Amino acid sequence: MSGSTSRLQAISAVTNYVPISEPLNFAETPMGELFGVNVFNLVQMKNRLPKNVFKSIKKTIETGAKLDANIADVVAAAMKAWAIEKGATHYAHIFYPLTGITAEKHDSFLEPDGNGGALLEFTGKQLIQGEPDASSFPSGGIRATFEARGYTAWDVTSPAYILENPNGTTLCIPTAFVSWTGEALDKKTPVLRSMAALNDQAQRILKIFGKENVPMVYSTAGPEQEYFLIDRNFYFARPDLMSTGRTLFGSKPPKGQEFEDQYFGAIPDRVLACMLEGERELYKLGVPIKTRHNEVAPSQYEIAPIYENANVAADHQQMIMLTLKKVAQKYGLECLLHEKPFAGVNGSGKHLNWSLGNAVVGNLLEPGDNPHENAQFLVFAGAVIRAVHKYAALLRAVVASASNDHRLGANEAPPAIISIFLGDQLTDVFEQIKGGGAKSSKKSGTLNIGVDSLPPLPKDAGDRNRTSPFAFTGNKFEFRAVASNQSISGPLVALNTIVAESLDFIATELEKATKGDAKKLNGAIQKVLEGIMKEHGAVIFNGNGYSEEWHAEAGKRGLPNNKTSVDALPAIGSKEVVNLFSKYKVLSKRETESRLAIYLEQYVKTINVEAKCIIEMARTTIYPAAVRYQGELASTAAALKAIDQEPNLETLNRITALINELLTATAALEKVSAHHGGASLQAEAEHYCHKILPAMLAVRKPADELETLVADDLWPLPTYHEMLFIK
Ligand code: ADP
Ligand code: MG
Repeated sequence: MSGSTSRLQAISAVTNYVPISEPLNFAETPMGELFGVNVFNLVQMKNRLPKNVFKSIKKTIETGAKLDANIADVVAAAMKAWAIEKGATHYAHIFYPLTGITAEKHDSFLEPDGNGGALLEFTGKQLIQGEPDASSFPSGGIRATFEARGYTAWDVTSPAYILENPNGTTLCIPTAFVSWTGEALDKKTPVLRSMAALNDQAQRILKIFGKENVPMVYSTAGPEQEYFLIDRNFYFARPDLMSTGRTLFGSKPPKGQEFEDQYFGAIPDRVLACMLEGERELYKLGVPIKTRHNEVAPSQYEIAPIYENANVAADHQQMIMLTLKKVAQKYGLECLLHEKPFAGVNGSGKHLNWSLGNAVVGNLLEPGDNPHENAQFLVFAGAVIRAVHKYAALLRAVVASASNDHRLGANEAPPAIISIFLGDQLTDVFEQIKGGGAKSSKKSGTLNIGVDSLPPLPKDAGDRNRTSPFAFTGNKFEFRAVASNQSISGPLVALNTIVAESLDFIATELEKATKGDAKKLNGAIQKVLEGIMKEHGAVIFNGNGYSEEWHAEAGKRGLPNNKTSVDALPAIGSKEVVNLFSKYKVLSKRETESRLAIYLEQYVKTINVEAKCIIEMARTTIYPAAVRYQGELASTAAALKAIDQEPNLETLNRITALINELLTATAALEKVSAHHGGASLQAEAEHYCHKILPAMLAVRKPADELETLVADDLWPLPTYHEMLFIK
């Protein structure tokens, strides 16, 4: 399909849009009734399991206690009965390999009964453990092919659910994925381990504050997902979008986002219909979707759930991404989750809101009205400050990817420098602590919004700063450098573990200083926090993170600024990080190193596919269009000459020059692509970063200029303007 045909088809899709299915009727089935209908949650378990079994499983879910393997058969039977009532024919262990995707292997409930008939079977063993043939998932060297077995293990703490399809349903069981030696091959296992580490250390702090027998303290996560929706006619006419997720060519549209008329603007009908259906599917799966809105860029949107236990939130986040993609197709739309689908237009991120606590102690990052009195809050906040400063390079590394490199440090996303925005009030409190002790906290006051009929709003003490990669937003931290297309598990593992390490440090200091004497506690806290501020306060920055002054200032403060993945990823293999993860039993040395290898490999593979795609498109799509137009101009010129008219050759000459530039640059890209960087993965990644990426841009440059010169009806690719504004 050519650019102009796909444009006409997209226009017709928009203008002739009729809802594809019966309108969703929330009056008939209220949202509350829909929520969680496809989840085997505590309510279902309570109704269907014997009391003692229910109690045992609830305890595992709520306290992280070890699962009693004897109950598995009973749970499996109840789960099967529930699933079959819901039309399930198969069950699937869902797991999260290191590619960041969601993997599933379906097995039928059918078992031959030996008499020519069949039984529907689902045993405890099938619930607890699976053995997918998983030899083609990356293991970073952990699993040689001769020991290719990988096992999935039931994660009791994340509920099973039913996945619907018009032709049947499947019982899905969230699992961890490990090698036969028990080493993690997935994203979930280290999340669970890091949550246990965080709980251990948080309990020590709570004990110091006199709180004993506290149920498991867990981290909470509320990820805000940004994404683009474009008409599928365009998607299929863009080989680059289809095979790499982003446009590798395309000149800037005459109108971009400069009018700022899209952010929070009215949502187009077809898009809203798509969102409503996506949200309904997610409600059924128990994903607590809360907000939706237009984002800054044209055709860009955001969806966010209410926060949950971080492990469950991570599973739900994967479901959000899958559901957005799936439902969009029903509406003739394609959901783009790439961090930078369109150069020069805002990219997409995933703001990861993070905190810790539980139902009994509440949110441990809730400051209360007078933060200087709230010593416990200050200890937890101080731990985060220390952790983020000490492990800034790790936090940068866990969001590093070839695609996020296009976004971080661009004009809309946080820079690659990791700093903390604390807001005026908290900064003031911590500055006082640094100077010897906090006596007061700046009153946040009220914000008068100047309309008498509206009540005064309490002013958020943690005001907003969109330019910070890591911001305190009232009662949680928001990690904004996370990539739109990535699993949130890596960032969660890093946050949980580095904060556990800081809580460990603080607890040890406080235990030493007080020796159990509560009267000494306030003095001891002051001393520890003062030390933390002196050593780690440099990470706090409330100003404009996009500015050049900040880059210079951050350099003076010694904060790392790892601009590309190639600079950032090695931190994962550093001694400090390897020791951190092994000390808290989150990842062994081999597990950590295998991850670094996989991420470098993915970086190389991503750019390799892009380079191949560029070469092919330059040769088979752009060059032919350009020479056709060149031919047209040349014959016009010849025809004019034949009737003694002097042709204007300006465009023809420019096009001829650009065609030559295109061919030369394509040949050069092909040449560097044929070379290798060296024996190590790091050297290979550097070759891709420093040699291949610039060579790709050199092909794009003449191609994008050709787009502005070649006759519109000959241009084969949908333009940025068409893709972003026809909706
Ligand atoms: P903001 O407008 O500052 O981004 P919202 O209240 O809209 O704040 O919250 C944004 C996201 O942060 C939501 O997903 C929300 O559930 C999540 N969030 C709120 N409190 C917490 C918390 N204690 N832990 C983790 N995430 C949280
Ligand atoms: Mg937010």
